[in-house]
Amino acid sequence: MNAPAQSTPDITIPADLLPSDGRFGSGPTKVRPDIVRSLADHATDYLGTSPRQLPVQLMVAELRNGLAELLRAPDGYEIILGNGGSTAFWDCATFGLIENRSHHLAFGEFGGKFASGVAAAPHLAEPSVAESEPGTHPPLEAVDGVDAYCYTHNETSTGVMFDPARPDDPDALVLVDATSAAGGLHFDASATDVYYFAPQKALAADGGLWIAMVSPAAVERIERIAASDRWCPPSLDLEIALDNSRKDQTYNTPALATVFLAAKTVGWFNDNGGLSWSAGRSAKSAEILYGWADASDAATPFVQIEEQRSKVVATIDFDDAIDADTLVAVLRANGIVDTNGYRKLGRNQLRIGMFPAIEPADTEALTHCLDYCIAALS
Ligand SMILES: *Cc1c(COP(=O)(O)O)cnc(C)c1O
Repeated sequence: MNAPAQSTPDITIPADLLPSDGRFGSGPTKVRPDIVRSLADHATDYLGTSPRQLPVQLMVAELRNGLAELLRAPDGYEIILGNGGSTAFWDCATFGLIENRSHHLAFGEFGGKFASGVAAAPHLAEPSVAESEPGTHPPLEAVDGVDAYCYTHNETSTGVMFDPARPDDPDALVLVDATSAAGGLHFDASATDVYYFAPQKALAADGGLWIAMVSPAAVERIERIAASDRWCPPSLDLEIALDNSRKDQTYNTPALATVFLAAKTVGWFNDNGGLSWSAGRSAKSAEILYGWADASDAATPFVQIEEQRSKVVATIDFDDAIDADTLVAVLRANGIVDTNGYRKLGRNQLRIGMFPAIEPADTEALTHCLDYCIAALS
């Protein structure tokens, strides 16, 4: 991995092959230019105004209601939000959702980080952690003495997805990290108690917020732990977040631009048909890209088991004859950015975002650009 930096071969992809938008990263992801323009239209009546007044509260309400519709929130489920992104939400959950012991499926960087944060918490028992080979996920099994099951819906680092399900353990909560999945993948919301995410991935907005859809059982857990003598920093306190969210506010000031971009993107999904439409766009891009990789002599999907293969983040291995880092650099020089694989995985690999805001026609164009570059590098 410490090879000396090579200069990028001078390869110009013909303009008629290029996608209309070159952003294929896995986070932050493509933000739609017309939504950014509509933010500019609200430069004076929304940005720079108080989050305790109606214009911003209405935008938070639009985001919460839009998400409840998009994610098909079952009866009694609520959308809550706060500052700090999904990483901060792990800390919120460590303080306010896990009662004593959690079980984690760790099949990539993100699930692993949450598990190690919990392992370091002095007020919790040592968590149980199930791991599997990179590019697969472990099975979800009930574990004795566990009160929270934690896994990712889509492991952004490896491109493995796990369809949310409940273990055979009715009293425990199911906490699903949907940071790169929410809005891009179908799921059964009633299989989850806490479906949490941040808006800079499948929701095509910007970072800094965490959002969670919580079940009545999760609310009951939050209230019970808050009433106990466990100390919790106020900025990570889920009961405070719950109280503020119900008033369409956050405990402290959110990024108003992020709230706007997320609310409007969710509205765009809903106006076009909701989750079946938005997840359908990702599924279409996935069909194009994996179909291309299957047919290519130079490329193979990294995730072998088809139902574990992500429809929002594709990891594609390349034949040794093609150096993936060089390919990434050539693409970047042609305006196609952020296609590099996850560093810690250390594979000769590209990782490509296929989020709903990306036009499937652009994914198709990307495959033609890849063919062009592969031919030029061979
Ligand atoms: C990006 C990502 C995170 C971290 O999100 P932040 O908002 O940067 O904290 C957590 N989990 C998954 C699955 C992610 O893809």
